[in-house]
Amino acid sequence: MRENQKSVQAFKEAVDLLPGGVNSPVRAFKSVQMDPIFMEKGKGSKIYDIDGNEYIDYVLSWGPLILGHAHEKVVNSLQRVLQGGTSFGTPTEIENELAKLIIDRVPSIEMVRMVNSGTEATMSALRLARGYTGRDKILKFEGNYHGHGDSLLIKAGSGVATLGLPDSPGVPESIAQNTITVPYNDVESVKYAFEQFGNDIAAVIVEPVSGNMGVVPPRNNLLQKLREITEQNGSLLIFDEVMTGFRVGYHSAQGHFDVTPDLTCLGKVIGGGLPVGAYGGKREIMEKIAPAGSIYQAGTLSGNPLAMTAGYETLTAMTKEAYEGLSQKVDRLVEGFSQAATEFEIPHTINRAGSMVGIFFTNKDVINFETAKSADLELFASYYRSMAEEGVFLPPSQFEGIFLSTAHSDEDIEKTIEAARNTFRKIKE
Ligand code: PLP
Repeated sequence: MRENQKSVQAFKEAVDLLPGGVNSPVRAFKSVQMDPIFMEKGKGSKIYDIDGNEYIDYVLSWGPLILGHAHEKVVNSLQRVLQGGTSFGTPTEIENELAKLIIDRVPSIEMVRMVNSGTEATMSALRLARGYTGRDKILKFEGNYHGHGDSLLIKAGSGVATLGLPDSPGVPESIAQNTITVPYNDVESVKYAFEQFGNDIAAVIVEPVSGNMGVVPPRNNLLQKLREITEQNGSLLIFDEVMTGFRVGYHSAQGHFDVTPDLTCLGKVIGGGLPVGAYGGKREIMEKIAPAGSIYQAGTLSGNPLAMTAGYETLTAMTKEAYEGLSQKVDRLVEGFSQAATEFEIPHTINRAGSMVGIFFTNKDVINFETAKSADLELFASYYRSMAEEGVFLPPSQFEGIFLSTAHSDEDIEKTIEAARNTFRKIKE
């Protein structure tokens, strides 16, 4: 067994100080039935806990660290900028530089507004869509997560295209009433919802590759069809690319699938590990935001030089060649993992988009939240604990994807496949 006394002690202290001992729920490791591992530092593909254990990291701070931990270019530039102060509350040139990169690479974005998190990006994009169209309702997909804003923390009731029920106490029913939820990859339900509420729907918001029920790519031209339906009904199409942006590829998911939404939400990779979000889209729509227009949205630390610098260095390092190299590593991991699971007769389905990978312990094709829920959660928990023992750090939930970085070496990938093989052997004993 790996040493974990310091983590156990730190968690004991934390539960008295922080609700559930953490500052974000999934970090409590509840679904894998263990105490959280407290981390101390990271370098490249590796992360180190406070008991001194080393892990190959596939969480990467939940996606942002596409270059791995403490990348030299990012750290050096941050140190340089830090010497000059952390925030001024005035425009800075680096905001323009990051904006240019985003506008250049993300097809739908002609103008962009920086914020501080993915949640802020989606909340603000919804306000903009409502203000622009003069409509109140929005349509979202079951199992898609768009942060914790009231309008988006909604799950479907039973049946097709029901009006939403709050996912959490504290979300007013009057707000939930304006959110329609339908199953992912189900265009018929979207059409039905538009027949019922078409003239009231301000926007459809979608994760172009779903990454919050494990990884579930779009099927049967879902994104193209959403583009057609929203256009026919005068609604906006919003891609929530907080996770997929600059992760699925150089031009993000919209470039990969060749569908251009009206608005796009970003986060994670564009902050290179610092707190950032952004939303952008057509100039005509973005110019409705204050102070160009009348739809209000603001932020004390929005566009701060540290976050902008980390994002700028990350995006400039992610050349087209870097994405190709990353993709080859993912190919090998998926191939080796699948071989290991097959060898030990472990039921599994692997979904993948760019360097996001979803491994589900089920033989079913995983196309939406219902099928994702068919995965064997007990098996996942045993697998998780064994992989951690083997020195592989994974997201502690079946419903989260894993991420790779350019820092992951071929040796890391082979070690991970070997760890999976050892794990499956133990499970079958
Ligand atoms: N949208 C998507 C697709 C996400 O995956 C997340 C976070 O995981 C968010 C929005 C919320 O971002 P944040 O946690 O930065 O508020």
